[in-house]
This record gives sequence, C-alpha cells and structure tokens, in this order.
Amino acid sequence: MGVSNTGDMSRFNSSKLQQSSPIGASFVLFQTLWDSLQSLVFPDICAGCQRVGHLICSNCLQQLITPFTPFDADGFDGFTCIGTHSGPLRKIIHALKYEATPRLAQPLGALLTQQLHQQKWSFDTIIPVPLHQHREEERGYNQAKIIAHALVVENTIVMDALARTRETPTQVGKTAAERKTNVNDAFALKPAFLPQQLEGKRVLLIDDVCTSGATLVACAAPLRAAGVVTLYAATLSRAHFTPLI
Ligand SMILES: [Zn+2]
Repeated sequence: MGVSNTGDMSRFNSSKLQQSSPIGASFVLFQTLWDSLQSLVFPDICAGCQRVGHLICSNCLQQLITPFTPFDADGFDGFTCIGTHSGPLRKIIHALKYEATPRLAQPLGALLTQQLHQQKWSFDTIIPVPLHQHREEERGYNQAKIIAHALVVENTIVMDALARTRETPTQVGKTAAERKTNVNDAFALKPAFLPQQLEGKRVLLIDDVCTSGATLVACAAPLRAAGVVTLYAATLSRAHFTPLI
C-alpha cells in the first residue's frame, strides 16, 4: 500500500454522500468515474523511484525513516527529522521543492508527525522558515509552510510569522562560514506580527532540509528576541555537511 492522490479521499467521501440524496449520489458517481479516468490517463508516479501507481510507493515509504546526524546548536531545545537526506527521501524532497509537487507535503508531514510524537515535546506554535517573497511567487508555494500545515499536532497553531528581509543566494556549495554569513540577519518578524504575540511561546520551527543548520540558527535570532521561551526545530531531512574549511 502506497500513498495515493486525492482520488482515494473522494471515493471515501462518496459513500457518505450517496446515503444523503439521489443528486448527491449522481454527483459522486460522476466524480468517482472522473477520478478513475484521471488516474488511468495520468497515473501517479512515485517521486522516489518513478514506479507507476502511487505518489510514494510502499517500497520507498519503508525506506524514508532512517537514523540521522543530530543537530544540537545553541539556541535550540531539540531537533528531529524523518531521516538522512539520501536515497528516496532526497528525491521526494527534490520533487516537492523543484518539480511542482506540493501534494507530497501531506505524506511527508504525516511521517514528520510520527517523529514529533516520539519526542514528547510541548509546543504551542509552529512557524515555517520563510522563502523570500520573490522565490515563493516563482514556486507558487513555500514548501516549509505546507509541511507545517500538514503536521497533525493537537493544540497548536501555524503562525507564518517570519519573513526573509533580503534575497539570499543558495547555500549549496558554500562553506560553513559562508553559509552563516549568507543568512545572517536575513530573517525578521513580519510587520503584521508584534513581538508580544510570540512572548512566552513554545515554538516548533519547520524547514525542508537541515544541512549546516545556519538557516535555522538565523531564524532563531528574531524568535528569541521576541521572547520565545522554548524553541525546537524539525525538518524533513538532515543532510551530511562536510565543511570545506
Ligand atoms: Zn518508490
């Protein structure tokens, strides 16, 4: 059993609607046929191995949770992720970010939720690492934001409170020191948010990948300055980072 598209959910809803009215039943029958036709013409392809049938096939799904290198930077009370940034997890995150497949946030968010439940952390606010406005407009979504919304943690709210104050070149290929300089002072609270809204909060910061951790550390600065008392971080994956200097 792999992770399928929304067609499955439509079929689930259909049985409920069919009991309500003949009009509802006709609509649902049409939608079910339409979903089936769509999946015949455009079948889901696994983002991890390109096998036809599911968005993430059962074989890849079983390989996603793996041991990872801890991230224990100053300013953080804990870190977790799904696994090491390699194999199918790396390919699936790549598809989420660069191949216009935001639907992948749902199954990845479910896996990250599993990891979070094992941590026994206590937090009330989930904040995604922001993209610069231009980058988000170009991509059409911020992957960290849709992951944050895909998490299922009781008594929490997602607060899109941070903004990138300047465009930063990609961190890829940079040394640890360059990465730090690249994102230093690049994040601030959005003008719509007052520091008082975060004062005393226990926050979970969300991003897609943690490599050197420079981005997470740069995001921590304005959050701590606003009075956040506890700060955890969770990402989809943890990449190996070998400092060049
Ligand atoms: Zn697969």
